[in-house]
Amino acid sequence: MRTRLYQFADDSMLGRRIGEPGNVKGTDYIAREFARLGLKPGGDNGTWYQELPWGPLGFDRNASRFIVAGDRAPLLGGTDWIPAVPVTNAIGGRAEFTNVPTVFAGRWNDTTALDPNRFRGRVAVFLGGPMATGGGRGGRGGPQRCDALPDRFGAAAAVIADAAAAAARGGRGGRAGGNPAAADTMDARATAAGAVALVFIGLESTSATAIRAAFATRMGIQPGTAPPARPELPAAVITASVANKLFGKPVAELNVADIGKSVTGAWNDAWRKGPVAARNVIAILPGSDPARANEYVLVGAHNDHNGVAATAVDHDSVRAVNTVTRRQGGNDPACIPTADQQRRIDSMIARARSIRPPRADSINNGADDDGSGSMLMLEIAERFAKERPARSIIFISHQGEEGGLRGSRWFVDHPTVPLENIVAAHNMDMVGKGRVTEVKYGGPTSVQLLGARRLSREFGDIIDSVNAVRTETMAIDRSWDVTANPMRRFCRSDQVNYVRKNVPVVYISLGYTQDYHQVTDEPQYIDYEHSARLGRFVYDVMWAIAVRKDRPAIAGHDPAYPVC
Ligand SMILES: [Zn+2]
Repeated sequence: MRTRLYQFADDSMLGRRIGEPGNVKGTDYIAREFARLGLKPGGDNGTWYQELPWGPLGFDRNASRFIVAGDRAPLLGGTDWIPAVPVTNAIGGRAEFTNVPTVFAGRWNDTTALDPNRFRGRVAVFLGGPMATGGGRGGRGGPQRCDALPDRFGAAAAVIADAAAAAARGGRGGRAGGNPAAADTMDARATAAGAVALVFIGLESTSATAIRAAFATRMGIQPGTAPPARPELPAAVITASVANKLFGKPVAELNVADIGKSVTGAWNDAWRKGPVAARNVIAILPGSDPARANEYVLVGAHNDHNGVAATAVDHDSVRAVNTVTRRQGGNDPACIPTADQQRRIDSMIARARSIRPPRADSINNGADDDGSGSMLMLEIAERFAKERPARSIIFISHQGEEGGLRGSRWFVDHPTVPLENIVAAHNMDMVGKGRVTEVKYGGPTSVQLLGARRLSREFGDIIDSVNAVRTETMAIDRSWDVTANPMRRFCRSDQVNYVRKNVPVVYISLGYTQDYHQVTDEPQYIDYEHSARLGRFVYDVMWAIAVRKDRPAIAGHDPAYPVC
């Protein structure tokens, strides 16, 4: 495990970001190991790989049009309007409508019902929009004092902090900061009322960065390769003066369902294949029982991480600050330390300086996230490769978990074995660090498990009964697996896509630590004994499922848990 992880999380892998050469090196290594262990390729066309259509995409400023009927010239992109960046299952990237009447829809995220008789086939114009609704991180006016921030360390504290934050926002939510434009917080009233496009008034309050980004090139999956779960409408953001022109009066005087001038829109989020492959790596160990070999026990982890940061920081200073003030790393906002905290930080930095000079660091190595899961999957594969359980085992190294759970989504939408034949899935993410000093309820045998019983009570029972009879009992922490979903924990890794497709799945982690999404997530901080102990446990659980007579029975989605 140690030998593997020092290679996989080496600086030469450059943070293994999707679509970058470092990730190709990392996935090459995983495929080579699968081959060396004697497994069978489980990707596309008899290969180890399942390639995702990944590449640059964006709106062409010169080809994008937004025209108000009666105007002699189109509106000026970037000044009068911008196309909204697509959001899966909410905002689409392609507009093609001609002379369609606009209708004022009131405030975005309001609850006023929109009458389909007024909105069907028309363009719904909202005040505000998803670009303006994000709470963001850190709040207004710079960083706060650390002792003024709510305690989010561990699931119970996070539930309380999340609930307080939701109450402060007016009751909606359960989101933990960040991403303002997620489909699950989208106002779907206009879509439900049959509108053909959305317009948001508020370009003046949109950040200069977001306006620039509208016509910039991004990297992404080829649009249209998977049917959206919910209808996607194209959307544009306009200024208040354009709105005034549409409706002939100031926005403040508008009433819901007021009809405005017709508009014509044409923009397209055009995509092309990128120069560097983005791929899942998949291997199979065929089962020994002809009757059960077409059924699979799945184990997965994600091979990508966050690449290289734009600016370098001093490694030891960042780690000292985060150890003291951001115990869950990037989950916690930066804050101003108290005098006592500052003393502890200074002493940690002084200790580091006594053995080495400052070290500039910009590489997000992702040793724990999710080098640990990826390498532990190989350790488990190595052990299975010497055995032949009745059912087959499928090993999947997911691409692009960071920023979109893309590889797991691609796999469940384009499975290389029948999805209904996957009897149970095990997703390991951050399985390298769970010391009692690092994680709430941590310790040498700790493991956080989430979700096993959401679809199949029996799957959860199997895990518990395996643990009960082992000599090396794990201390299973289920505090994160509660319906309040602290910090949206369950929704943030690849298990989401399996549970959506009715595959029983357990999320296995040792927990968030101070190195989460930091340049300090490096292999020297991993607790290899703990990882190895967890690997033996996961192997035992998978073995039990692979040899038992019946697959875990699916009871259906437990309605007590929110759907991601
Ligand atoms: Zn991860």
